[in-house]
Amino acid sequence: MPENRKTQERLDPRKPLVFDAREVGRRPGSMKRLRRPVPVPEGLALDLVRVPAGTTLDLDVRLESVLEGVLASSTVTVPLEGECGRCLESFQDTLVVDIQELYAYPDSETDDTTDEDEVSRLQGDFLDLEPALRDAVVLALPTNPLCRDDCPGMCPDCGVHWDDLPPEHSHDVTDPRWAALQSLQEPASESTDAFGAHRGSQPN
Ligand SMILES: [Zn+2]
Ligand SMILES: [Zn+2]
Repeated sequence: MPENRKTQERLDPRKPLVFDAREVGRRPGSMKRLRRPVPVPEGLALDLVRVPAGTTLDLDVRLESVLEGVLASSTVTVPLEGECGRCLESFQDTLVVDIQELYAYPDSETDDTTDEDEVSRLQGDFLDLEPALRDAVVLALPTNPLCRDDCPGMCPDCGVHWDDLPPEHSHDVTDPRWAALQSLQEPASESTDAFGAHRGSQPN
C-alpha cells in the first residue's frame, strides 16, 4: 500500500464541488443528475483571459455508478473576461466545457492498477470535482483570445483599431527626403513597370 493513501486528508463535504457518492448508490447504472451554481475557484486564468474571481459557474453534473467507481460527466459554463490578442480591447464571453472523470472505489481493480494522478479516487464516500474541473477549464481557455472571430486588429503604425480607420488607410507616405528621391526615379519606372508593383501612394 502506498504510504500517501493513508495520509490522505478527508474531503470537506460542505465544499460546493464535493459530492457524496452514497447519493448515487453502488448499483452499476444508477445515476443522479445535479445542477447547481458554484462559486468560481480561484486562479482559472491565463495571461490575457480569466474566469473572474467572485463570479459563479453553472455546473450540470451526472454522477453514474459504474463497476469501478463513480463516473462524473459534467458540463460547466463559466464567464470569461479578457483582452483581445489583436486589438487589446477588453471583452467578455462565456465558455462551456465538458468534463468526464472517473472516481475509482478504494480497493477496486482500478485502484490497484493505476496511480491517483491517472485516475481520481473516491475519498471515503466523497468525490471532489474541483481538480478535474480546474484542469479542464484552464486547458480550454483560449491562449490567443479575440474580442470577436474576425477582429481586424490595429494598424501597426498608428495603433488605431482598423474598425475606426477608412479602408484606404496607410502610412506609405514618406519622409520628404525619400519623396524627393522617389520623384527622381518615378518617370523611368512608371513606363517600365511591367510587374504590377503596388503603388499605394499614387492618387487615382
Ligand atoms: Zn479585437
Ligand atoms: Zn495607421
